[in-house]
Amino acid sequence: MEQLYDFSGKVVVVTGGSRGIGAEMVRDFASRGADIVISSRNKASCEKVAHEVRDLGRKALSVACDVGKLADIQNLFKKTMDEFGRVDLLVNNAGANVTKPALDVNEEEWDLINNVNIKGLFFSCQEAAKIMVKQNQGKIINISSVGGVKPYKRIAPYTATKAAVIHMTRSLAAEWARYNIHVNSIAPGLIATEINKKERENKEWLEKATKAIPFRRLGEPKDISQTALYLASGAADYITGQTFYIDGGTLSE
Ligand code: NAP
Repeated sequence: MEQLYDFSGKVVVVTGGSRGIGAEMVRDFASRGADIVISSRNKASCEKVAHEVRDLGRKALSVACDVGKLADIQNLFKKTMDEFGRVDLLVNNAGANVTKPALDVNEEEWDLINNVNIKGLFFSCQEAAKIMVKQNQGKIINISSVGGVKPYKRIAPYTATKAAVIHMTRSLAAEWARYNIHVNSIAPGLIATEINKKERENKEWLEKATKAIPFRRLGEPKDISQTALYLASGAADYITGQTFYIDGGTLSE
């Protein structure tokens, strides 16, 4: 079993790896032997996580990449290939949200959410797959959300993009299985990170949100990174096109 979770010699690219769920994945993969490419819009914050990877004895590369921009994505994979010469796993974790009534959402906010969560995710998959096709091997994990299947007020554009991630995962999995590329998705429930820090500071909001989770606690980044370890491991080699809902039971009610 231990061998299935040994990522020695593997190269893992994590978008949005500078904090939250992405940073936890970086730590978990590095502590099991992987070398990591950490990217977000802010290279300095990626570099902080890169130091932790190097302290674990693994190699780390920080790359500034706004996944809303195709040129940035192409540069991310060029730098990855220059440094490591392969990509074994891509985690499309970078995500954007704006919480406000649907009546108030403007075009700029719509474009931001769609560019990061759908366009950026698609082209990151495409750039990674160009490499993985040549390797005849690779795995991709796309981060969706329970909001991709359950309606939530005040985040309509975000929920639409996360639904798209689930469907795109299935389409790409079907198309790329012939190249031995696995494409799966993780849909987290409410996980305590920066993305919902403002909401969590509101006691009433937090109480209501916690009551909606059968386990009566918010998730931790670790809950998601452990699922990513499983999907990336040899234990999941016959799984593709699936979405794993890691939500403390939220969708069961
Ligand atoms: P977070 O702590 O706010 O982290 C978001 C990460 O994405 C940061 O590293 C951020 O770095 C990066 N990022 C944001 N915009 C980017 C862009 N345009 N290009 C590249 N990187 C960008 O949030 P999180 O909770 O860990 O979220 C990670 C993923 O989980 C997201 O896809 C989110 O939608 C999903 N998710 C989270 C929850 C939850 O409750 N936390 C629930 C469901 C799904 P920079 O700011 O430096 O770019």
